[in-house]
Amino acid sequence: MTFQDLNLNTPLYNALDDLGFTTPTPIQEQSFSVVASGKDVVGIAQTGTGKTLAYMLPILRNLKYSRQDNPRVLVLVPTRELVVQVVSEIEKFSKYINNRVLGVYGGTNINTQKQAVAQGQDIIVATPGRLYDLAVSRVLQLKSIQKLVIDEVDVMLDLGFRHQLMNIFDILPQRRQNIMFSATMTKDVDELISDFFINPSKISIAVSGTPLENIKQERYDVPNFYTKVNLLEHLLLDKDEFSRVLIFVAYKKMADRLFNKLEELFPGESCVIHSNKTQNYRLRSIEQFREGEHRLLVATDVMARGLDIEGVSHVINFDTPDYPENYMHRIGRTGRAEQEGHSILLSTDKEKEGLERIEELMQMQIEALSIPDTVEISTELIEEERPQIRERNNPIKRSDADAPGPAFHEKSEKNSKENLGGSYKFKIAAKYKKPKTRGDKNYNRRNKK
Ligand code: AMP
Repeated sequence: MTFQDLNLNTPLYNALDDLGFTTPTPIQEQSFSVVASGKDVVGIAQTGTGKTLAYMLPILRNLKYSRQDNPRVLVLVPTRELVVQVVSEIEKFSKYINNRVLGVYGGTNINTQKQAVAQGQDIIVATPGRLYDLAVSRVLQLKSIQKLVIDEVDVMLDLGFRHQLMNIFDILPQRRQNIMFSATMTKDVDELISDFFINPSKISIAVSGTPLENIKQERYDVPNFYTKVNLLEHLLLDKDEFSRVLIFVAYKKMADRLFNKLEELFPGESCVIHSNKTQNYRLRSIEQFREGEHRLLVATDVMARGLDIEGVSHVINFDTPDYPENYMHRIGRTGRAEQEGHSILLSTDKEKEGLERIEELMQMQIEALSIPDTVEISTELIEEERPQIRERNNPIKRSDADAPGPAFHEKSEKNSKENLGGSYKFKIAAKYKKPKTRGDKNYNRRNKK
């Protein structure tokens, strides 16, 4: 397939020619007609797959020339770097199109951005916080937004932007197309989709279920966290064999917890990356791991997905991913460049379903090993493994019953107005001028005669 097979227009063909792009990438091929159809779309694709063009091409193809000031397309991304990058991509594709594109992000002067917005725009690319500030200040009107793109949703949710997204959803027109791209599927992403998307079409460049043949996969059944740590210690003591080890966990708290344990067991040999660490810290950790200064790197799925590090001797799946695609991404970090790679998967009873899904996707069984006798089986449980504590007099209430549920979101602006009491009267008085009464009724009655 070439771009000629997509129903584009001359300005777009000319821009693609200038860029030297001839063949759409798989995600572009699959997205074009679905995005162009106006349906809600969820795309699973990593950076580097051409996903920006996958959503922008159909949008630019259908965006009519307009002189109206209010933007019609909104692209939300998690970081300012990405705002800059996406704007520059859009500008390249729009070389022969007469449209106005603006990037806005926090940490810079809002007034300059307000002036730029006021000049009238067609496409806004923004980080959620700054976008909301501009919308609340009324400089940026969102009432004409027809297409909302949320890119790198997994990172956005991992960085804690869910609330900001809810606020933005509330002030966008109800009738709009939602287009979402995420590199990994996580529980948070899944929840967001089911809460806010209308029957979306899902596109994913099928993660190959066939693992590289040069990756040796093994697994252990392990009852709990502390036994996993004991087994990990036993394995990692063989420093020649386990020379550069990437250890995956599902969430930040677990990453910190495991990192602290490893620091006790192997002082100065490990580093950790997750989204609560600053970008500098993360970059430094990755560099230290790459250079071999640190033998062990603990990482969450979201933060590790772009990692391309040579010579990873082992990938250890400290937990079993719920989504089998994440397992495929994880183990692909080892066995690169034709080298032998190893992957080890640890699963508790609760994680057995995840294991089944992985084996189903790969159409093969992972070889199960038994825990060596020297490894102590712990009976101690961490918080998440303990049974839910129930109140004595309230057997139904769970310990997290007060936490907002997955469907929680802020009230809409309209519904969250406070009762301002007296000021309402002043407003009405101002609007209708003086009340038309014929004096005080009671006074008049009392003084009749
Ligand atoms: P992205 O995944 O959107 O970050 O894109 C990765 C890089 O691939 C960007 O530099 C794009 O300009 C480039 N690219 C996107 N689509 C194509 C294509 N069809 N052919 C060649 N390069 C592309």
